[in-house]
Amino acid sequence: MLTDRPPRNSKLLAQFRESEQLTSVELPPELPELAQAIEAVMKDGTRGEVRQACADFLNAASAFYRVRPPEVRALAARPLRVREGGWATELFGDYSLDAALIRIWTRTAVRKQVTSYGTFLSTLCHEFGHHLDCQKFAFSRSPHTRGFYERAAVLYHHARGTPVKKLFWMQMPGGRWRIDWRRTNAVRQAADQILRLSARSNSGK
Ligand SMILES: [Zn+2]
Repeated sequence: MLTDRPPRNSKLLAQFRESEQLTSVELPPELPELAQAIEAVMKDGTRGEVRQACADFLNAASAFYRVRPPEVRALAARPLRVREGGWATELFGDYSLDAALIRIWTRTAVRKQVTSYGTFLSTLCHEFGHHLDCQKFAFSRSPHTRGFYERAAVLYHHARGTPVKKLFWMQMPGGRWRIDWRRTNAVRQAADQILRLSARSNSGK
């Protein structure tokens, strides 16, 4: 994960800084259950059912944040056509800033393997993050800032029911940042180990 370069335009830069500072969001309580429904249809449902489960998830999240829900389409694989501007594109999904449309694919573009549930849900939360930026925070370009990634991660871990990792960042040239996975995962592993050791000592009593 790499942040975008800070824009030169002063209005966009002000939005970028604001996005950077905003590192958390309130969490819709019904998302974990709706995420489980997505996992279930990914295993043995049709693509139409996957789309509907995503729509249910996004509709509940949108109602919670009081924004209009995005359109959502579930595609088999990433379209090969390269589009013009106005889209935020990830490896497993994209978001049209103009049309408020999320597209997400259930198979990888190259080998056509099924996208894992974790990757799929993480992409859905990421694209919804762009929607929130545009509809709730009025960030016209929805930049990938550290704050953006932190918010998307908080939403994802809440929906998936996994503990939030503290993200460590490394500064890159040009005012960009990238996640320091070595440090981020080392802290996570140390925390897991402490939990395991304390569980062991408690069970030994
Ligand atoms: Zn993005």
